[in-house]
Amino acid sequence: MMTNSYDLPGFFHVVSARRSPAFASAHNSVIARCAQVKPLLAARYFLVTFLVVMLHAAVAPGGVSAWAAPPTVENGGNSAEASQPPNAEPAVVFAGRIAGDNTSTRLFFDFDREIKFSKFFMEKPDRLVIDGPQMLFRFAEPELIEPRGLVSFLRYGAITAQKSRIVVSLAGPAKLNRFEIVEIGEPKKFRLVIDLVPTNPAAFTRAIAEQRALIGTSGEVATKGDRVRVGEKRKGRFTVIVDPGHGGIDGGAKGGDGTREKDLTLAVGRRIAEKVAAAGPFDVKMTREEDVFLSLGERVAFARRSQADLVISVHADSLRQKWVRGATVYTLSKRASDELAHELAESENMSDLIAGLDNPQEEDVVQDILADLTARETNVFSRSFSRILVGRLGKEVNLIKNPQRSAAFVVLKAPEIPSVLVELGYLSNKEDEKLMVKPEWQESVAEQAAAAVVAFFKPRMD
Ligand SMILES: [Zn+2]
Repeated sequence: MMTNSYDLPGFFHVVSARRSPAFASAHNSVIARCAQVKPLLAARYFLVTFLVVMLHAAVAPGGVSAWAAPPTVENGGNSAEASQPPNAEPAVVFAGRIAGDNTSTRLFFDFDREIKFSKFFMEKPDRLVIDGPQMLFRFAEPELIEPRGLVSFLRYGAITAQKSRIVVSLAGPAKLNRFEIVEIGEPKKFRLVIDLVPTNPAAFTRAIAEQRALIGTSGEVATKGDRVRVGEKRKGRFTVIVDPGHGGIDGGAKGGDGTREKDLTLAVGRRIAEKVAAAGPFDVKMTREEDVFLSLGERVAFARRSQADLVISVHADSLRQKWVRGATVYTLSKRASDELAHELAESENMSDLIAGLDNPQEEDVVQDILADLTARETNVFSRSFSRILVGRLGKEVNLIKNPQRSAAFVVLKAPEIPSVLVELGYLSNKEDEKLMVKPEWQESVAEQAAAAVVAFFKPRMD
């Protein structure tokens, strides 16, 4: 799947062509348009900067104030001394470059202040992960960080509210010849210089084992469930979890008009949560209420810790089949109901990989779970809710053909909680995108979802 990225120049924001083909072409055409104004260097600079800022608006929480000014260091070199006090403005990454070939690749990233990084390698797929404090990525010339040499793919963004991450996907096993911060320019700015050279697979695996002994498994991300104290379950009330898909470094799909899945799922998720809470004896919780990354495991753990009675995960993905449109409700199954469902689950389950976490063995996990008796019983309830929800949604919105589908979605694997994943529509489809951003449309979807929740719990009420 990573190989999809090779034939897409400048395509480093999203994980694969399958994940977001619409965005790839939009992005490339943006680059093409920028190239036409090449003689007007200043105009081009500002246009590119503006577009990059727009594309990355939400992966840089709290960054609005930093957008206004071009990337200069205020107060002479003073900011250099302070590493990063708590609640500081995010560091601005204003330039970057990837150069070299398969025998040696150099990357650098330029910052407006000195910051500390931690780094580690991961395998299957091979990656170098660089963690730092909150960073605002606005590369002046994004074409300079197009993957090349040992770098097959680059992704960057927020991983928690305080932490940003750069994930460098590798074309093969590699090691660091240099990882160093140097001062550049006047006034003083800072450059992280990274030199990668190839290494053999055995040495790479050995290096990862050594690193693990030193720093643990990597990718520790704040666990949402840990921060939340879950109260006693109240009698006669039901706990419903609304799970807006993606967030932070994982933007999800991107529509032709620029709609980001992670924003859409949050907007609609909020409406659903509100309507459900008002519709009956429901305690509604959201897995995320802001633009942060949450691993799939954390989402499931949060639902389990909350002793949830129902999980509704909200998405609006992209499909290769651009003509496909309409809402779809997915439940968990070992074997996908159809090829489309299979591809979608595969792409959805990549979320953790995008953020530089270990690749869970999804298929095994799902298989084990469905062997469990509780899980099988739960699955009956999931499908029952899916049926009710499809019935309600069908009154108001356009449904896909065969709207009840199933596949091995990791986020649906809590064995004791009925769970569904709703694709509101598909951002790869123009009409769907236009519709999904409309507040009235979102509101009626939320109303129908709430009505479905009421109908689902009705037999267990009073
Ligand atoms: Zn999604």
